[in-house]
Amino acid sequence: MRELAAQGLDGAVRLVAPRMASDAELALFHTPAYVDFVQRRSVRGDGFLDGGDTPAFKGVFEAAGSVVGATLVAVEALMSGAAARAFVPIAGLHHAARAGAAGFCVFSDCGVAVESLRRDYGVRRIAYVDIDAHHGDGMFYAFEEDGDLVFADIHEDGRDLYPGTGARSESGRGAAVGTKLNLPLAPGADDAAFLSAWAEVEAHLARFPSDFILFQCGADSLAGDPITHLRFTEAAHAHAARRLCAIADAQGHGRVLGMGGGGYNRRNLARAWTAVVGAFLAAAPVSR
Ligand SMILES: [Zn+2]
Repeated sequence: MRELAAQGLDGAVRLVAPRMASDAELALFHTPAYVDFVQRRSVRGDGFLDGGDTPAFKGVFEAAGSVVGATLVAVEALMSGAAARAFVPIAGLHHAARAGAAGFCVFSDCGVAVESLRRDYGVRRIAYVDIDAHHGDGMFYAFEEDGDLVFADIHEDGRDLYPGTGARSESGRGAAVGTKLNLPLAPGADDAAFLSAWAEVEAHLARFPSDFILFQCGADSLAGDPITHLRFTEAAHAHAARRLCAIADAQGHGRVLGMGGGGYNRRNLARAWTAVVGAFLAAAPVSR
């Protein structure tokens, strides 16, 4: 928020309050047994929700449910036409699976958003684009056989970084083969490497047009992140945001929902996410 204000952008955005997601909404993506499990562990408030990455704490259910609720508020704003683009900094928890927590992610707001778009709005073909340093494994495997979830993910090679997945050969299963694009980059990859991978993302999105774009813009792919090894600058994030707006407009719907994702260097978070919001504001939407 301070960076947004420093760049004079705070007056150009409308802030919207989040809400808690309902159990039924969480169960659009997650198994009821897992939703129950988080609720129980949230009362007890100790230990881990997975093998040791994702801690349980008192109120974790409400905290994680509010992230999902915030993303659903953004979906509602875009689908009602109240907003042309939306950005939810806390969102983009792309490691959570349908039946389990992983990598600091309790509930998958991105997964619930996809299921809600389908059930509540009849939006079938949805694009999910992810430039967080980590592979979006929770989203990839949940929709691996779903040809209507168009997936494109630029990330640090899984041989060098958690979660270890996202090889180029992983392109979807069954009828969905080819709808998933995984682009692992070597440690140290910079903006030039990003831009060349990005051209492939654009070709992929052109091959599989969609009616809504989810954009997980993790800031941990910037140089200086303490737990990853990519070396992008915020110009990568701005470029992706700008191009996704242009693509969404060209596809006739204009809907881009940005989700903050990871990032463990706070200065980088401020830079990357403000660059995304700035690009959203600069890319004037087509009138709908
Ligand atoms: Zn990450």
